[in-house]
Amino acid sequence: MSDKSNWIDFDKQHIWHPYSAIGADLPVYPVVGAEGVRLRLADGRELIDGMSSWWCAIHGYNHPGMNRAIKAQLDEMAHIMFGGLTHPPAAKLARKLVEITPATLQSVFFSDSGSVSVEVAMKMAIQYWHDKGIASKQRFLTIRKGYHGDTFGAMSVCDPETGMHSLFTDALIPQFFADAPTCFYGHPCNRDGAKSMEEQLRLHHEQIAAVILEPIVQGAGGMRFYSLEYLQEVRRLCDQYGVLLILDEIATGFGRTGKLFACEHADVTPDIMCVGKSLTGGYMSLAATLTTEEISKTISEGDPGLFMHGPTFMANPLACSAALASLDLLLDSPWQDRITTIEAGLKNGLAPCRELPQVEEVRVLGAIGVVEMKKPVDMKSIQPCFVEAGVWVRPFGKLVYLMPPFIISQADLETLTKAVVDVVEKRPM
Ligand SMILES: *Cc1c(COP(=O)(O)O)cnc(C)c1O
Repeated sequence: MSDKSNWIDFDKQHIWHPYSAIGADLPVYPVVGAEGVRLRLADGRELIDGMSSWWCAIHGYNHPGMNRAIKAQLDEMAHIMFGGLTHPPAAKLARKLVEITPATLQSVFFSDSGSVSVEVAMKMAIQYWHDKGIASKQRFLTIRKGYHGDTFGAMSVCDPETGMHSLFTDALIPQFFADAPTCFYGHPCNRDGAKSMEEQLRLHHEQIAAVILEPIVQGAGGMRFYSLEYLQEVRRLCDQYGVLLILDEIATGFGRTGKLFACEHADVTPDIMCVGKSLTGGYMSLAATLTTEEISKTISEGDPGLFMHGPTFMANPLACSAALASLDLLLDSPWQDRITTIEAGLKNGLAPCRELPQVEEVRVLGAIGVVEMKKPVDMKSIQPCFVEAGVWVRPFGKLVYLMPPFIISQADLETLTKAVVDVVEKRPM
């Protein structure tokens, strides 16, 4: 398998990629190294990364400090089971997460992916109400255009249409959906703006364990930025109707939107919060579900007195060490200034797209820049254009978007935005 074309051919015939087909006629580019904001292809070309490997690689690739931390942990131990055993990286990381997340969040459940952390959040909400003696609360309410992962519980609260899971509808737990917020970020939102949420809660609150949503930024379901007042109104309604609030910060957490957590834009505290993606700076797969003392106590003192979940690779020491190193790097860096600079660079650089007839809207928040097209882009023709332009940008549906590593230089950011403007302008869509 040392022959290059051989392993690439094998990949094409035998390996699934995210949302892919075996043997498909779409390019999959072989990467043999990555450093800073650059991915190195097998043919020697370098691409400036505009995706942070799906929100994750906030410090870029092959970071010496990150590498050192993981190598040091590797020399101690790579993994031990977490049932009945514990270790310093898990305890240190949990302490750090409790410290930097909203003050009422006091307990931490580690899992190996974002989707699983959402499953855990949903199970915690149900178990909480069960232990409160209200077993009827087993369903969830969410907003349309959301995305919470690909496992069954998570799928059930993804947007029924844009959530990519419509063919599984009959196999999914039916949940309740409110309209996606139409009051956008930077704009006010009165009670009318959350009318659909209020109505769902009024009708179904006796069955609803929790409202689950992505705070401020709806990611993979449409890259929409909504009003902080909407989130405040949802919190108020949850309290009024006796329903928990789960915030999915898997994409938004750790600085991406300009706040450490997106809920801080609205000064809203969830009852349960999920983090993942950039938690380890993109090095390893790790996620966590945080809860309040009220919830963890109720579950721990209830019947059966245990929380019923426990992944094999729970709190993997290598992953916890990567997360600790990543958080130290982030919190010791001028990350807020960096996000402000990236935000300005994205706004400036993508502005010419506003004038193009094929573009519906351009929006930027923090280190997220989105060009929404009028029609879905043709991946087969557009992907090679970006690679030829020396950048890694991976559109989906109508969305061409950038969320570069926080360490990107002005010059590299300009190359990225210029490539987006050029490709969007010149490609017949
Ligand atoms: C990516 C994502 C998930 C799922 O995380 P995985 O690690 O892919 O399972 C859940 N929620 C949001 C908001 C995400 O962006």
